[in-house]
Amino acid sequence: MARRRQLYEGKAKILFEGPEPGTLVQYFKDDATAGNGAKKGTITGKGVLNNRISEYLMTRLSEIGIPNHFIRRLNMREQLIREVEIIPLEVVVRNVAAGSLATRLGITEGQRLPRSIIEYYYKNDQLNDPMVAEEHITCFGWAATQDLDDMVALTLRVNDFLTGLFLGVGITLVDFKLEFGRLWENEEMRIVLADEISPDNCRLWDAKTGEKMDKDRFRRDLGKVEEGYQEVARRLGILPEAGPRDMTGPEVMQ
Ligand code: UDP
Repeated sequence: MARRRQLYEGKAKILFEGPEPGTLVQYFKDDATAGNGAKKGTITGKGVLNNRISEYLMTRLSEIGIPNHFIRRLNMREQLIREVEIIPLEVVVRNVAAGSLATRLGITEGQRLPRSIIEYYYKNDQLNDPMVAEEHITCFGWAATQDLDDMVALTLRVNDFLTGLFLGVGITLVDFKLEFGRLWENEEMRIVLADEISPDNCRLWDAKTGEKMDKDRFRRDLGKVEEGYQEVARRLGILPEAGPRDMTGPEVMQ
């Protein structure tokens, strides 16, 4: 059987040519990096969990009318997605101070922000993904003003929806990163959500104890990294190993 053509290999995922034109296969690896590749490691089972978690979240987002690239999950580590033209920006939303916001501005980690903040970073490994302003984005043509308006509107809806979804299972959505792409259909362009939404690119803290259940366990050598990812999947009701009882849906916290 002919091997599929590999189109791109990133730090955590590989993209293969899809079965039909306009589709790709997104393969989730167990590889983990932090600090733009400065720290490298493996989180056993991460790829399987992120594939499942991202499928779940993208599907819920589709249901509320947030267009995204996800078509369907193919197997444990792969999902079929629509091929989009990736906009070279990372859109970060913050609800609680953490990570680079806390260190850069000297704000105590864990402080709830009076309003959600959106930040943009230019996707460029050589430059270490520098933070940029709207002015840079439009000046250098990475996205048009209309594209940015669409991205911000979608980002705010995603934030509201995911904040509620995670709170329902006892998790605080501290911050997360989104990526968008352009999807062309009948000569019309739409901005859609792309990449993945998983504990690799969200900060997820237990709402009661503040325990971290995301990639910070790896970044900061906190131990029990696999367990953090598993706990997120378990609370969302999508951990296959947990048995059929836990597959019925999210575990609603009182
Ligand atoms: N993030 C990401 N990819 C990056 C940088 C950040 O997914 O290249 C996510 C990160 O997981 C967190 C949010 O974006 O949920 C904000 O990250 P921050 O700016 O605090 O960066 P960090 O200090 O974590 O690198």
